[in-house]
Amino acid sequence: MIDLHSHSLFSDGTDSPEALAQAGHEAGLAALALTDHDTLDGLEPFMAMQRWVATVLVPGIELSCRFMGHPLHMLGLFLAYRDPLLRERVESMRLKRLERNQTMVQRLRERGLPITWEEVAAEAPTDLISRTHFARVLVRNGAAGSPEDAFRRHIGDHSPCCVPFPELPPREAAAWIREAGGVAVVAHPGRGFPRGFRWDQAMADLKDMGVQGFEAYYPDYGPLEERYFLGLAQELDMIPCGGSDYHGGHKPGQELGVGTGGLHVPDGILERLQSLCALGGRR
Ligand code: AMP
Ligand code: MN
Ligand code: MN
Ligand code: MN
Repeated sequence: MIDLHSHSLFSDGTDSPEALAQAGHEAGLAALALTDHDTLDGLEPFMAMQRWVATVLVPGIELSCRFMGHPLHMLGLFLAYRDPLLRERVESMRLKRLERNQTMVQRLRERGLPITWEEVAAEAPTDLISRTHFARVLVRNGAAGSPEDAFRRHIGDHSPCCVPFPELPPREAAAWIREAGGVAVVAHPGRGFPRGFRWDQAMADLKDMGVQGFEAYYPDYGPLEERYFLGLAQELDMIPCGGSDYHGGHKPGQELGVGTGGLHVPDGILERLQSLCALGGRR
């Protein structure tokens, strides 16, 4: 069993990268990828654990993109995470996010909501701050009953206080990943997109943009959805990937490897990904 999608406290998970590697080993995973949102910062401590664990540790990222007007997440797997160009590119994204977050605090305050920049920054264990952290401050200060309520009332995609984050076009994300020796994989297709979205056409277009695979195994896919995406991967000659999208305590019930219980990503996928890397990603 392998797990090619997980988060540490360097983005919006609760485990340290070291604890995550250890947990992968204890769960008997053949491989585990750390794929924090828009940051490489957890990868150094994660990969340093390789000498202590039997699990193959895969350095990754989950980049925030926009595709046909919808949010699309792109995983980069087997990244050369010390590559200076990649680091510079990801850092530019962090600065844009910082600016956007500060504007969001301003807008919320202008509407009289109880929130300060210091509170938001203190809520995040690292310097990667997302709306998840805004939600927790709003709940603590009594402006929302729960994080979901905070999204519904104040910071959801279409609310006036939500400043859109300048996400990457998928073509650019795929280039960042592949130029750093990695494999570009669309995360959880189907999530964040309208029902009936034509993934067969969209995925063929994404393949033309440099994407090499997509998640066909995901905790909340039903059997039909999994079968659909496995068939599509075969049809388009793309790699069917998958993982738990583990976030520790922020997504309770979502376990490493098995997701909500029924997830099983076959080991053979790892070799297919590795052979793509060996080809220099040219395919
Ligand atoms: P950001 O990258 O700052 O725009 O924040 C995106 C994060 O907010 C995602 O990773 C989700 O975990 C979280 N999020 C987005 N929409 C919702 C929602 N409606 N309810 C709960 N969490 C959400
Ligand atoms: Mn997340
Ligand atoms: Mn995602
Ligand atoms: Mn994720």
